[in-house]
This record gives sequence, C-alpha cells and structure tokens, in this order.
Amino acid sequence: VNPIYDRMGTTIFQAMNDLARQHDAINLGQGFPDDNGPQDLRQAAADALMNGWNQYPPMTGIPEVRQALARHEKRFYGLDLDWTAETLITSGATEALICAILSLIDTGDEVVMFQPMYDAYVPMVQRAGGVPRIVTLRPPQWTLNRDDLARAFGPKTKAVILNNPLNPTGKVFSPAELALIAEFVEASDAYVISDEVYEHLVYDGLRHVPFNTLPGMFERTVKISSAGKMFSLTGWKIGLITGQADLLAPVIKAHQFLTFTTPPNLQAAVAVGLDKEDGYFDGLAQRMQAGRDHLVAGFRRMGIATHDCAGTYFVNIDIGSTGFNGDDVAFCRHLTEEARVTAIPVSAFCHETPITDTARFCFCKSTATLDAALDRMERHF
Ligand code: PMP
Ligand code: GLN
Repeated sequence: VNPIYDRMGTTIFQAMNDLARQHDAINLGQGFPDDNGPQDLRQAAADALMNGWNQYPPMTGIPEVRQALARHEKRFYGLDLDWTAETLITSGATEALICAILSLIDTGDEVVMFQPMYDAYVPMVQRAGGVPRIVTLRPPQWTLNRDDLARAFGPKTKAVILNNPLNPTGKVFSPAELALIAEFVEASDAYVISDEVYEHLVYDGLRHVPFNTLPGMFERTVKISSAGKMFSLTGWKIGLITGQADLLAPVIKAHQFLTFTTPPNLQAAVAVGLDKEDGYFDGLAQRMQAGRDHLVAGFRRMGIATHDCAGTYFVNIDIGSTGFNGDDVAFCRHLTEEARVTAIPVSAFCHETPITDTARFCFCKSTATLDAALDRMERHF
C-alpha cells in the first residue's frame, strides 16, 4: 500500500470547537466577534453580488481593492506603494501565509519563529521543507530577549515569521524589540513574513508599527493583513499582502496555483472598508479594548491573574492562580466540561518546550456573552 503522509495534527480550534459544542459551552476559544460586522460592507458585498461581480476576477485582486490597500498603507503608515506590483489579494491571511512560505522557504532553510505562535505556522514551514528555530516569549510580559534571538539566528537563517500584534499572547512588540529583530535580519540577509492581521487592534494608546517601515526592512518584508480582522468579518477570508515588487513576484506565482482568485464581491466590499474614515478604525480598537478590560476585570474579581495584553482578540490567564491542579490541556477540558466555558491551551501554540500553565480567552464578544462566561466561571471557581 502506498503510504499516506498524515503528518499534520488536528488544529486545536477544531478540537475545542467540537468540545464546546458537546457541552453547550460559551466559546471563548476560537477568535471571532459575535456580531455580524458593519452593515455598509455587507450591503456593498450584496450589491456587488447582485450587480455582476460573480466570475473570476483578476488573479492579483480587483483594482479597486488593491488601490484602496495602497491608500490604506499611505494613510496609516506613510508608505508609497505601486498598487500594480506591490499589492496582492488572497483568500484570507491563511493563503497569504502559505504563498509567502512556499515562495521564500526551501528544503533545509531555517525559519526563526516566536512562540507561543499561531498554530498554522509550523506545519506550513515544515511542509515547505523549512526548519523552525524557536524563540520563546514568556508570561507575564512576553519580553523578547536578545540572547534567545542570537541563538535562533545562524548561517542557514532564510526568514523570520513575525506576528505583531501576537496571537495568542496579545503582545505588541515594542519599537526597541522590532529594531533588535531588524538588526538580526539585516546581519543574516534574511526575509520577514510579517503577519500583522491585528494591526488595527492595538490598545492603551499604543501605535502599530509595521515591520516594513523600519529602516532597510521594506525590501525584505512581506506584510500580511486580513480584512476579516479589520472589519470583524472573519468568515470572509480576504487576505491583504503588500511588499516590494521583486519580493512579491514569487509570492504572486504561488497564489496563481493555490487559489488564483478570491471572491470578487467580497473584494469590492473590502475596497469600501479600507477607505473608511479614521473614526471607524479608532472605534474598533476602543470596542475591543473595552472587551479586554471587561474580561480582565472579571478575572481580577475572581482572583485570577491575567498576563499583559495590548492587542489582538485575546488575553491569557495564569492557570495556577485559579487553584486548578493540572496542565493547560486538562484545565481547558475541565473548564469546558464543568464550567461550560471554552478557552484554548497555550501549549497548542508552542513547538518545543511548551508553556503549559497558560490559557487563552477571546474577548471580542458582546458584553452579554462575556458576562455570561464570567458568571459561569465565578460560580465554578
Ligand atoms: N494569522 C493570525 C495570527 C491569525 O490569528 C489568523 C486568524 N485566524 C490568521 C492569520 C488567518 O487569517 P484569515 O482568517 O484571514 O485567513
Ligand atoms: N485567528 C483565530 C484564532 O486564533 C481563528 C483561528 C482559526 O480559526 N484557525 O482563534
């Protein structure tokens, strides 16, 4: 019998969603808002659907959304992009990631990655033949350490996968940390796949710094964003890539054989979204920050310690502070079965020497949902 290489595990999101469903738990695991997203964007998508955008659109994305993406990068970050060669629209940030990985990583190439990290990175890198070199960030502050970085970089370093703001930790890398990474990138002549899907979800008055705005980094960086996160429409799966033309050319080649195109009506609506006024983006961050504050305050009332969080949809708790005796996987199972609230064990976001005392909770939910989850946990602990 020909062997089947079933090397990829089941994603933690599938596993926890199933468990949550079985126990009718409030699901603060997988990150998605529990509202329907902006009405004007949904209307724009419906209009585009009814008025003709239903056949294959251009391979690299419809001009309207690519131009709007270039305007977005100019407005927020002062970058001047040639939309015809330096933008690409994909089917989600997920496709953007695999396009970038397949075009930049070859067999034996080492890839520096920061854990805990989004669970798709390692399987994608390994299937491309790459070798993960892991830098671990530790709670409660998730600070980046120069010595750890120096140990991860080497003569075979081909690329870095950076996720800023960082899922699952909620960490926003400081300008000094970004400069430190850039120093090593420059010295190793490496590339950066910069997953910035949470670029507009940054709190406490902090400002998002795209990695490609650091000196010398534009030519080395493939920046990836997601309309799903920008517009609270996670099911839409529209990925937004920007990068210098020569670097983007092979990424576009990967895209042509993966999906070739992305639903045009959704692209048309995202074009409208990217031109939304600053107030929309500020309001989004304010609402998410309020969700974070609400959930953190609830944990504090219960005496549960939370780790630093300045961005994303997620905040993490120290499991030890709940009095639970066991690791994160046991805790998340117990919480789902007994308190009927679902969280994600952070070890699932680790590749080696996992962090096993931390659980991730999603706060991009209505106050009513967060209160109901807090109420269940308060009764339980
Ligand atoms: N990267 C990170 C860090 C994410 O959290 C997500 C959301 N699942 C993605 C990529 C994928 O985004 P998309 O849904 O646009 O494929
Ligand atoms: N980004 C979301 C999360 O981390 C969704 C992940 C997924 O559905 N694969 O929860």
